[in-house]
Amino acid sequence: MAEKFDAIVIGAGMAGSAAAWQLSRDGKRVVLIEQFEIGHVRGSSHGESRIFRFAYPQQEYAKFAMQSKPQWLELERDSGKKLLHSIGGLDFADDAECFGEVEQIATALRTNGAACEELDAKEIRRRYPQWNIPDSTIGVFSPDGGWIEATNAVRAMVEQVARRGGTVKENEPVARIRVTEDEALVKTTRGEYAAGKLIIAAGAWVKGLLDKTMFSFKSLRDDPDQHMQKLFRFVQSPLKVTQEQPVYFAPIRNAESFGPERFPIWIHYRKPHFTYGFPMGARGCVKAAFHHDGPVIDPTQPERTPNPDATRRLKEYLQKYLPDAAGEVVEEVTCLYTTTPNHHFVIDLVPGFPNVAIASPCSGHGFKFATGIGRALADLVQFGRTDMEISLNRWFARQAAA
Ligand SMILES: Cc1cc2nc3c(=O)[nH]c(=O)nc-3n(C[C@H](O)[C@H](O)[C@H](O)COP(=O)(O)OP(=O)(O)OC[C@H]3O[C@@H](n4cnc5c(N)ncnc54)[C@H](O)[C@@H]3O)c2cc1C
Repeated sequence: MAEKFDAIVIGAGMAGSAAAWQLSRDGKRVVLIEQFEIGHVRGSSHGESRIFRFAYPQQEYAKFAMQSKPQWLELERDSGKKLLHSIGGLDFADDAECFGEVEQIATALRTNGAACEELDAKEIRRRYPQWNIPDSTIGVFSPDGGWIEATNAVRAMVEQVARRGGTVKENEPVARIRVTEDEALVKTTRGEYAAGKLIIAAGAWVKGLLDKTMFSFKSLRDDPDQHMQKLFRFVQSPLKVTQEQPVYFAPIRNAESFGPERFPIWIHYRKPHFTYGFPMGARGCVKAAFHHDGPVIDPTQPERTPNPDATRRLKEYLQKYLPDAAGEVVEEVTCLYTTTPNHHFVIDLVPGFPNVAIASPCSGHGFKFATGIGRALADLVQFGRTDMEISLNRWFARQAAA
């Protein structure tokens, strides 16, 4: 006999935890099901930090980040934990090919009413002498940039679900999903759960999960074949899973200049993708990483071995641009990106099922929106719409319009 809930959420990474948190704040009885332990390191949501920024070249993401910030503050109030550290962010480029993105960031911030300052190389060096940048550099400083404590945020959301009477299942992989327009039935290795609403937030495992379970989807109202085709196209779509690698370095000298009060989070726009980093944290290290740099991997294989070549190239980057920071390698972290071809997210209702949403909000930049993504998912399955700015991310709606 299936245990009954108002909503089932599959996956306790940032997206699933946030959806479960928002649904439980709405007074819904939720079960959140995770295949590993909460806070595990095999997916995308673990670690000390993720960049938070309004600073995006696309106005839609700037607005969505601005909508997500008050939700982060709600989570801090709810949990009594400091999770978002707003210290400012510097986005810059020294290659003319990337100036357009930096200029678009300033436009997107201004259009949305967010504060920003445009800086030339001289001013960047005056404020942040840690940077060894050429005279051609242009940049934008946004005081709203900063970082989020990633694993701590996931844990905080999960704890708040439990505090509100929700059920959290760990080490319980979902094996089967059956859905009608009224009810979702989810079978795991340990139990069976039924609810009116279902949110699937399985990260890098989403295609495998749907591939195994999608043939159990049946719409009672509309033509099931048409919907199945759209879902099938999603499962077949080229979602790419890669292993990425931030690295922690101990500064060689002037370590105090890399503290958060003197050194904002940063994104260096370059080709083919940007490089980014964080100020020194409690362990006395700066963290840096290349965006969209790692090899394609199968998320079901358990190995997550760091790649020494990525570390070597990152150190060379620091030696060139942040020479005082280019010290000993203290830790190499592995983490998965699940990337769509256009680098937007998937946050949408499954066609034909107003009670089922799928979230694949990674593409390497989803964390900052977690609380907003949770709000959007909770809204979609309850009301069929949301005020969150997810117009770039309604995957099925955009396919239908194309
Ligand atoms: C190195 C790195 C750096 C990043 N930096 C930033 C940044 O600075 N700023 C930013 O905004 N974003 C950043 N991101 C992106 C951000 O971390 C991701 O967008 C986000 O974590 C994705 O969360 P998710 O919930 O979609 O996936 P996940 O965290 O992978 O969660 C999915 C969960 O579903 C579970 N699951 C899967 N299948 C099943 C099943 N069958 N049954 C039960 N559970 C299942 C998985 O175990 C997993 O816990 C970064 C990502 C990485 C990897």
